[in-house]
Amino acid sequence: MADPVRIRGAGPSGLAAAITLARAGRAVVVYERRRDCGRRFGGDLQGIENWSDNVDVLDELASYGIARDFHAAPFTRGVQTNGSRADTLSFPRPAFYLVKRGTAPDTLDQSLKRQALAAGVTIHFDTPAPDDLPIAIDASGPLGRTPFAVDTGIVFETDAPDQAVALLHDAAGLRGYSYLLITEGYACCCSMAFDAFATIHRQHAEAVRRLITSQGITVRSPRRVGGLGHFVPVGQWMRGASRVVGEAAGLQDFLWGFGIRLAIRSGVLAARAVLEGRDYALDADQAFRAVGRTGLVNRMLWDLGRVGDYRGIMALLRVRGPYPVLRFLYRDSWVQRALYPLARRWSERRYPDVLNARP
Ligand SMILES: Cc1cc2nc3c(=O)[nH]c(=O)nc-3n(C[C@H](O)[C@H](O)[C@H](O)COP(=O)(O)OP(=O)(O)OC[C@H]3O[C@@H](n4cnc5c(N)ncnc54)[C@H](O)[C@@H]3O)c2cc1C
Repeated sequence: MADPVRIRGAGPSGLAAAITLARAGRAVVVYERRRDCGRRFGGDLQGIENWSDNVDVLDELASYGIARDFHAAPFTRGVQTNGSRADTLSFPRPAFYLVKRGTAPDTLDQSLKRQALAAGVTIHFDTPAPDDLPIAIDASGPLGRTPFAVDTGIVFETDAPDQAVALLHDAAGLRGYSYLLITEGYACCCSMAFDAFATIHRQHAEAVRRLITSQGITVRSPRRVGGLGHFVPVGQWMRGASRVVGEAAGLQDFLWGFGIRLAIRSGVLAARAVLEGRDYALDADQAFRAVGRTGLVNRMLWDLGRVGDYRGIMALLRVRGPYPVLRFLYRDSWVQRALYPLARRWSERRYPDVLNARP
């Protein structure tokens, strides 16, 4: 019998690869060191962004054969506030789909697990990938190096209506942002800081005061959630003979920490490379090289633009419209390419431990 294709890690990238391979008739074994899929997260609400590409992300998943068998709430409106001014932002199509992460049946993670098992994938839980067998795809997630961002918050039940609010306020998420997301009575309020990690709980208390308490939002059964954002420079697509995908390959937006879409896309790309005998490093470089560039440029622009309580950033989004601004920021344009050398130097000074880390 032919050797199975072995995958390290059963997160979104590894499972997307596994589903693609198994549907094409290959025997697939996934090793997952945790007890179940989704255990990295504790019920967090996360957004799958829908602005970096013209194709709607759910259509993209459908084109990979991934069914929408999970809670995915489209948001076409949101509020941005810096604490003194609030603007409602409208999008011509969903700006993002709110999904749940964790081990509940309606999470993205459990849905991908179900779809992988149904396709015939074998998943060994509680089992780190063996060192003595060839691993075709390394989907092992963050590398545990210096975090570039810390995210902390709570999930809770509430009577408040569905909403998405972004709070741009350094006291509540230094160089980052805080957010309140509510979908069908389930809510998440978190702070993501890119600095002063030691005071993250104080920053989050400020976010709770501004986003929940002062708005009279009911909170039932709160639970702590959160995690660390890691970054490695994009570009190392192979580790030995393993094709590296998702967060393990640095496919993590350095501006705001979005990574699910890139994780799934890269998992599928690696699976197709296996199936078609293609050079994954070449394909990935072509597909994702710009991600590393735009991430650094956008982080620099955000960091410089936060002066004056983010008023300039808010005005830009209000006047130009959020969708065109986001499309511009995430497009591999000549402006992005021209700014990249400057952004690279700026980031190396601003985030030396992160930028100089190699996997
Ligand atoms: C707090 C927080 C909030 C976020 N919010 C968003 C958001 O709103 N939108 C968004 O798009 N992205 C968000 N992200 C990023 C997103 O979660 C990641 O980009 C995505 O999960 C990456 O998927 P992955 O499959 O590459 O890695 P992971 O999801 O980390 O999966 C890797 C898996 O590999 C397993 N593993 C690791 N080592 C081994 C080993 N040696 N053997 C076997 N198994 C192993 C791990 O246990 C894990 O299950 C957030 C991240 C954090 C931390």
